[in-house]
Amino acid sequence: MPKARVGWFSFTCCEDSTMIFLEVLNDKYWRFGELMEFKYFKALKESHEIPEMDLAFVEGAVSTQKEEDKVKKIREKSKKVIAIGACACTGMPSAQRNSFDQKTKEEVQFIVSRFNLKDKVLSLKEVIPIDYEVPGCPMDEGKFLQVTEAALRDLGFLKEGEKI
Ligand code: SF4
Repeated sequence: MPKARVGWFSFTCCEDSTMIFLEVLNDKYWRFGELMEFKYFKALKESHEIPEMDLAFVEGAVSTQKEEDKVKKIREKSKKVIAIGACACTGMPSAQRNSFDQKTKEEVQFIVSRFNLKDKVLSLKEVIPIDYEVPGCPMDEGKFLQVTEAALRDLGFLKEGEKI
């Protein structure tokens, strides 16, 4: 049985959902290895070019044009996209500066300019269509397993009733 080609991507965030994922591997390492081949995962291996994928896990909000371009590339190259954690699903808490008052916005403007940040921090679905969401800050582990299982089933890598 072929394995799903997957990627894990982190954008503007604290990467705590990546930590939760690594914790999940304590129980699921062998099963995930049977079902998925990680083609891109910077926390685990050298990863450069965005590969063709069946499934992309995307953590974090989008705060620069470079991130926006990369997210769009991921969408082009992946059959299904899962938004991982609150920052990807809603923008928050990474998008806190969107609701700063004018005075506070002016105070942080030099940082926005220095790092070429967008005027507004965006959630993933404000940039690309997404297929599934795993909410939580960090992501909810049970929901992550449920959604990953659903995605693998939809893609034909799990039969009806089969579990991850
Ligand atoms: S959702 Fe929470 S845990 Fe995840 S990246 Fe954002 S701030 Fe960090």
